[in-house]
Order: sequence, then C-alpha cells, then structure tokens
Amino acid sequence: MLKPPQLSTTEAYLWDKVQSGEPLSDEDALSLYNSQNLAFLGALATLLREKLHGKVAYYNRNFHIEPTNICIYECAFCSFARKPGEPGGWEYSPEEIEAIAERYVGTGVTEVHIVGGVHPKRGIEYYADIIRRIKRILPHVHVKAFTAVELKVMCARSRMSYEEGLIALREAGLDSLPGGGAEIFHPDIRNQICATKADASEWLEIHRTAHRLGIPSNATMLYGHIEKYEHRIHHMRLLRELQSETGGFNCFIPLKYRRENNALSHLGEVSIIEDLKNYAVSRLYLHNIPHLKAYWPMIGRVTAQLSLSFGVDDLDGTIDDTTKIYSMAGGEEHPAMTTEELEHLIYSAGYVPLERDSLYRPVRPSPVIA
Ligand code: SF4
Repeated sequence: MLKPPQLSTTEAYLWDKVQSGEPLSDEDALSLYNSQNLAFLGALATLLREKLHGKVAYYNRNFHIEPTNICIYECAFCSFARKPGEPGGWEYSPEEIEAIAERYVGTGVTEVHIVGGVHPKRGIEYYADIIRRIKRILPHVHVKAFTAVELKVMCARSRMSYEEGLIALREAGLDSLPGGGAEIFHPDIRNQICATKADASEWLEIHRTAHRLGIPSNATMLYGHIEKYEHRIHHMRLLRELQSETGGFNCFIPLKYRRENNALSHLGEVSIIEDLKNYAVSRLYLHNIPHLKAYWPMIGRVTAQLSLSFGVDDLDGTIDDTTKIYSMAGGEEHPAMTTEELEHLIYSAGYVPLERDSLYRPVRPSPVIA
C-alpha cells in the first residue's frame, strides 16, 4: 500500500513502523487511541491486515449451545446470568443438549461453540459427558468450549489441576477454547466489574496450559464501560506476551459492552467511531495474533461490515439464533445469517469471503483473489 500523503510526523513514523513489521509500543497504541484521524487508523490497520490476509475475510458455519445461564457470579456488565430458581434461568439436560446437536446433522456446520454460566454443581465429568454426546451425533464438528472462568471452577469442583481437567475434556472431544471471561485484566477495573471470578493470572495460566497441551484458543476484551485506554493496552500487552511465549491464540475478539439489563446500564454505550478505532488499534498492537474478529451478533451487521476496513478479517459465523448472551444485553435479537448473507456482506464491503473451519483452513478451495 502507498503511504498516504499529508501525514503528521507521528503518523508517518507509525506508518513506517507498521510497514517494517516492528511491534508497536504501549505509547504508540495510546497515541493511536487518542488520534481523531479515523481515516488514518483505517489505512494503517488495513496495511497490516492486508499483509496478513490480503483481501480475504473469513466466516464459518457454526451454532452455539449455552447449557445453562445459572451462575455463581454477579458480574456488573452481565445481562445473561440468573440465580437458581430466578425467572429466566435455564439448565438443559444432557438429552436436551443432544436434541440441539441433532438439528445440525447434515447441515454442513463445522463448529459448535459452548459457553454458559458457572453452574454451582457441575464439574469436569458432567461437561466431558456433554462433549461425548455431541461428538457421537456430530463427529466431525469442532468443539470450541468453556471459558477459562468456567474451567477454573469445574476443575476445582472435580479436584483436578488445570492440566488434568483439560486433558479429560480433550479426551472427551474438546478441540479448542473460546476467549471469553477475559473482560479487562487490570485489577483496578476487574475488581469493580467482576471481582470474584478468575483473575488475570488464572485466566492466562489456563490458556497457557491449554496451549502447552496443543489446545488452541482465542482471546477477548470487554471494552466500552469504565476502563480507560491504558487498561485496554495493559490487557492486550498480557495477551501479546503470552502469544510470544506459546503461539496458541488464533484470534482476538474485542467485545463491546452492551447496556440492556445489567448493573452498568447508566454508563451508556460507546460510539461506532470508538468501535472502529478499537478494532484498528487491536489489529496493530496485537501483531502476533493472526486473526481479528468482529462478532456480528454483538456489534451489528453494519459495524461488522465497516470493521473490515479497520483491521478485521473474520466476521464469525451463521449462528442460527442459538445464542442469547448478547441478545439479552441489547445485541441482535435473533442472530442468524445464511452463508449467502455473510458472503454478500463481505463482497459488498470490497473483500473476498472465504468459509473457514475453526483453525482458519478453507472449507472449500480458496477463491481466486485479485
Ligand atoms: S459474565 Fe459469565 S461469570 Fe459473569 S455473571 Fe455472567 S455468566 Fe456468570
């Protein structure tokens, strides 16, 4: 890409740095967050995005299972969790989970994403049984399951180390970990929004253990509430450091705080401009995590489409109206897109759609890219 004309001295310095492949410093990231030049942020993020992925934008065919929303925690930003017996709570039985999996036999889905509340009673054995049942019905589907927050508690309940718990789940058919539960790692913020669940070092240690066992994972960051730019940069620095140690993260997914039905509603929500800025800075700072995802049920279709010009290369998947986490917080009410709709969204933003599996391998031969 040609260097845009009329850049400030700082912008020209950052352009040359990204062009040469040098990692951005924390100060660089802060200066990008404080920039008002959205066009420059988009161009700079696109410079790196196109070095990594050309014009390709990925999507997959997936569905979610949320086994329960009963949770022992009370995170201030959460709209999903319920206490036992509270209206709006659910606990699927293993047979109900099998019935969900059966709906996808022969549909071409390649991934099931399983996360839920941290149940007061269920341990590793229960969740290993669920995975086994799903794999019996959908043997070729990739099981991406359980946040580090859930894993910490289920390992403790089953008196297993992280390693023992992950090995038991892997033997049952676990293929990778999603990136949820990371929120904001910095204790000044974490202690205000989710003080009692797994902290930064526990979250990172569970992902480190998974990577050592050959189980890849993703990482998230919940932004747009009480955190400052410095907290986002600190969060991403810890992820970047773990990635240089293990190389086990496939994808980073910024998650926007949505305000419906939770204890932080008075804060409101950040603007689309802030969303795009955050995608761009994430892409640029996390140079060593290959993929950046805009999770469309949370951000909406239009912003997801725009995000492709701000460093994003993955729009997640078809979903098929199987998740309630963001619809309960003010996201898409019934999130579902056909592969044709996803491809149209990507084409009309000037990118080339490519259906991927959970490890970003093409499901069909790669399209010819101009
Ligand atoms: S965010 Fe997760 S851990 Fe926190 S209350 Fe909601 S379901 Fe429970």
